[in-house]
Amino acid sequence: PAPVLAIVGRPNVGKSTLVNRILGRREAVVEDTPGVTRDRVSYPALWNGQRFTVVDTGGWEQDARGMASRVAEQAEIAVELADAVLFVVDATVGATATDEAVVRMLRRTRKPVILAANKVDDERGQLEAAVLWSLGLGEPRSVSALHGRGVADLLDVVIETL
Ligand code: GDP
Ligand code: MG
Repeated sequence: PAPVLAIVGRPNVGKSTLVNRILGRREAVVEDTPGVTRDRVSYPALWNGQRFTVVDTGGWEQDARGMASRVAEQAEIAVELADAVLFVVDATVGATATDEAVVRMLRRTRKPVILAANKVDDERGQLEAAVLWSLGLGEPRSVSALHGRGVADLLDVVIETL
């Protein structure tokens, strides 16, 4: 079977937009309202001749008590079933307490984690992305899911990691 990449992160950081970029079509639901993706949704993807499955999730809500809401549960299941995890952070917001809690959860799973610093729409955003080294997950890969910036380089890393 194709290796599985789980896309996780807080609501509204651009996970579904990034999934659509990866797929090259609009299948994942993008919303300005946080928390629209409720369950795990799997899509077949292809990059450089490598097939893989990308799993979109609803992510972790700021106010989920102990991060144990049903949506967060689905995200944790997605991580458990994945071969690698793409953790998406909004570089324009920076690392929040929820992001840091997600990092702790990801460490426990021992899955390989790739850090995507999203919403880096132009050069100016690079500095904001660099701050995310503080999450301790290695190099933040800056991307703009909206405009496609950096997504090809990110996918090269994904394929190497899967
Ligand atoms: P999700 O909840 O993490 O799946 O986030 P969505 O993909 O639904 O996106 C939430 C909002 O962020 C939408 O209004 C998107 O258009 C916007 N967004 C996503 N990616 C980017 C990006 O790279 N740059 C900017 N400026 N906005 C983005
Ligand atoms: Mg979504």
